[in-house]
Amino acid sequence: MSHIASQISALRERVDRSLAHANRPTESLQILAVSKTRPAAAIESAYEAGFHHFGENYLQEALLKIEQLRHLALQWHYIGTLQSNKTSSVAQHFHWLHTLDRVKIANRLSQQRPSNMPPLNVCIQINIDNEPQKGGISLAQLNPLAEAVEALPNLSLRGLMAIPSKDSSPQQRRDSFAKMAETLDTLKGTIPQLDTLSMGMSADLELAIEHKATIIRIGTAIFGPRTAK
Ligand SMILES: *Cc1c(COP(=O)(O)O)cnc(C)c1O
Repeated sequence: MSHIASQISALRERVDRSLAHANRPTESLQILAVSKTRPAAAIESAYEAGFHHFGENYLQEALLKIEQLRHLALQWHYIGTLQSNKTSSVAQHFHWLHTLDRVKIANRLSQQRPSNMPPLNVCIQINIDNEPQKGGISLAQLNPLAEAVEALPNLSLRGLMAIPSKDSSPQQRRDSFAKMAETLDTLKGTIPQLDTLSMGMSADLELAIEHKATIIRIGTAIFGPRTAK
């Protein structure tokens, strides 16, 4: 077995155990393979092991790999910080954006989405632990932003995303994930078609699955440790 294949089978065991523990069917969870800093060849190996959704954080690097891998039917998710002058690349080349946190960016993405492509799927990022340097909005800002995104023709609002503080204790992390699940449930009261909760990474996927994550974003547990960029 290749290195990536053996890591993936260990990951699948962790995921299956967590799903069973939470009484959840396999189809209720999608694993997003986070391929930042990884070469196209590593993405091809993960594709052969059954992954079709890939997450990227750095736009220039991502665009190059999207071009190199055009022969594969991949779904690309942008999960990095997005500046308003870079929106057109995301509108033209990605299927999903997980880090939406401003109306201005939403407006630009909807305007720039090519008319021959389906609406761009978006998640609103919540700064769940209120960290000053982190992207995302506070819970108090959610309703107006969600309503504004809902009104845009070329965006499809799918749900919420969060990256908890890396310094939080397991109990704090549990509280943050629970708060996200509760917030999505409440928002579904006004926007019933929401179906996505993007949270959980290699180190905390069990907790995220227990708290109803529908997309976990996994890098290290698929591809191995990242070397500093
Ligand atoms: C890098 C990254 C991940 C993956 O992290 P791992 O710990 O390698 O699984 C997930 N989400 C975001 C937003 C990231 O930047």
